[in-house]
This record gives sequence, structure tokens and C-alpha cells, in this order.
Amino acid sequence: MKILLVFDFDNTVIDDNSDTWIVQCAPEKQLPVELKNSYQKGYWTEFMGRVFKYLGDRGVREEEMKRAMTSMPFTPGMVELLNFIRNKKEKFDCIIISDSNSVFIDWILKAANFHSVFDKVFTNPAAFGSNGHLTVENYHTHSCSRCPKNLCKKVVLVDFVDNQLQQGVSYTHIVYIGDGANDFCPVTFLKKNDVAMPRKGYALQKILSQMPQNLEPVESSVVLWSSGVEIISHLQFLIKE
Ligand SMILES: [Mg+2]
Ligand SMILES: [Zn+2]
Repeated sequence: MKILLVFDFDNTVIDDNSDTWIVQCAPEKQLPVELKNSYQKGYWTEFMGRVFKYLGDRGVREEEMKRAMTSMPFTPGMVELLNFIRNKKEKFDCIIISDSNSVFIDWILKAANFHSVFDKVFTNPAAFGSNGHLTVENYHTHSCSRCPKNLCKKVVLVDFVDNQLQQGVSYTHIVYIGDGANDFCPVTFLKKNDVAMPRKGYALQKILSQMPQNLEPVESSVVLWSSGVEIISHLQFLIKE
């Protein structure tokens, strides 16, 4: 049986947020104030749709956006971690669940030649239209009150694990690697043998550290990381068990 590795993308695989990084393509590398202020909580995908429309209207083209995205730095130790997983692929299934979009993630993984490390990428579908503008859609609809309208990562994870089970694939452990507040919901799905790996100093760690007061207990173990190299150590420990 394999281990399932679940990665968030922004601030986990890459060391920044792809949606805010793209703003450097805008004139003077910033958005107009009205656009910046138009974000409504829970409606990030709609907001990014307006950002992409603005960039398109200002003549920012696909190549320029691709150049910006593929210059994003990977998080420390992440290149080592992804190479480690690639070399031990018989022991790991590996997926991404991200609130970024399919175009950005594709560009970044392909440019760094990490595309084959991941079995599946779950994210908001995006595409360039015939007018050269990037458009993005919600990943799905769901009824989780905790998550943004377009994506509940827990629903995605539960569906993936159920589907795999129907194909006869089950996992010894699920390891969830993430940084953000929207990584908390999927972590509540983890069981005793699983591992939540929040990035040290980021929102998910803070939420998990307030757990005793929280109503919903986290059953899995929690292991912090700052570098992908620390994640390698923990995976080595898990596969030796
Ligand atoms: Mg993140
Ligand atoms: Zn949720």
C-alpha cells in the first residue's frame, strides 16, 4: 500500500501566491484601487476573473504572464522533496489541491519538469479565450460553510479517496502538506495514522495551535516544517515503519 501525499500549491510548493504574483504584469505592477477593493470574502475566483480581464484589457498577453509565473521561486527544500518523491514513486501517490488555477500550475510544474510527480491536480479550471484573455471558473459547488464558494478542499480529498477505494486503492497514511486557512477543512478529514504538515509560521499552523479551544478535534498527528527537506525526513520515517 502506498502513502497519499496531498499538496497545497501557493506558499507550499511555490514560495509565494501565484494570484498576487501575476499582478507584477499589470501596468506599474499594481491594480487600480477600485479593482483591488472589489474583492468580497469567499469570492476570490470572481475577483481573479476581474484581475485577468483587466490584464487582458491592458494588453498583457499569455507569454508575458507565463514568463512571470515561471519565475516564481519554489519553497526552500521543495525541489529536493519533489525529486525524492519522483525517485520513490512506487511508494507515493501525489496530488495537488489548490485554489490557484490550472493554467498557472501547469506552467510552473512543466517549466520545472515536475509535472510527472503529481498524479492529479485539482484546481479552478482556467483557459485563454480567442481574445487572448485568461478566464477562470469555480472548481465546483459545495455546501461546506467553512470554505470559499468555489472550493472545499475536504470535499475534493474525500471524493478522491473514495474513488481510489472503488478502484481498490487504499493508503497506509495520508500526509497533507499546506500553509493556508483553507487547508484546515481537509485536515479535519485526516485520521489517526495520517499526518497534517502545516508550514511553520503560516495560517494553518496558527489555526491548528488553537485546537484545544476548537470544537472539532484533529485526529492526525501534526508535524511542522519550514523546508521540504524536513518533509523528506518525515516521509523516510513513514516508509521505514
Ligand atoms: Mg497555500
Ligand atoms: Zn470545507
